[in-house]
Amino acid sequence: MQKRTRVLLCTFKNETPPPSGFGGSIAQKDPGPFVHIRPRGARENGYAVGMSVIEDREIVAARDLLDRYRATYGASDDGPIPVDEIAESYLGLIVQTAPLEHGISGMLLLREREIRVNAAECAKWPVRRRFTIAHEIGHWELHASEVSANFICRLGDVREAGPAKGSPEAVREREANRFAAELLMPEDRMHARVASDGNDVIDQARWFDVSPLSMAYRLYNLGYIKQFPSKTDYDLDD
Ligand SMILES: [Zn+2]
Repeated sequence: MQKRTRVLLCTFKNETPPPSGFGGSIAQKDPGPFVHIRPRGARENGYAVGMSVIEDREIVAARDLLDRYRATYGASDDGPIPVDEIAESYLGLIVQTAPLEHGISGMLLLREREIRVNAAECAKWPVRRRFTIAHEIGHWELHASEVSANFICRLGDVREAGPAKGSPEAVREREANRFAAELLMPEDRMHARVASDGNDVIDQARWFDVSPLSMAYRLYNLGYIKQFPSKTDYDLDD
């Protein structure tokens, strides 16, 4: 009898989850909308405890990975984060563009050490590929030691196929998204870039090589723009 491979299905938003309201400076641990408004320059993620901030583990993991990569490769602090090189050269993962089923953005095959990215999506939205790879790296760094199943990650708008809110799968999904946002748009670099070049969504999206919608969420989450990003404002084809 053929052995079936167990997989995890998760709703995969290629963007940082949007905010749902105001007030509160404490990141939520549940997988629901997590964003909170903070003053400009304040840290986006983590728990404020007295004068210190305890970062969420996915944020710490993303920063740690980038630090390790830079220490090994002596990488420049300038320009978009080389997510392919981090995956392939540093982590030893194979990154393949593959004809995946519609709605599946990416996969992480643990035993094969392989990331597969939806070829059709890559052709239509090149910048989405980078977020998908970063998201799967997040699963690799955060979850590979916790679960033995492969990850199959769907677009956020295929909601009916996503994990139930509050489920372990939903938590892992949210962590992978936040990991990806921090890896591709590091908070310290965001502050520096906005200080030197302003908060224009399109300009910053081009510089970081992410989608305008991803950048809009990031700028909003960091308090640099006031308007809640709308998908209709930022076509992913941009
Ligand atoms: Zn996922």
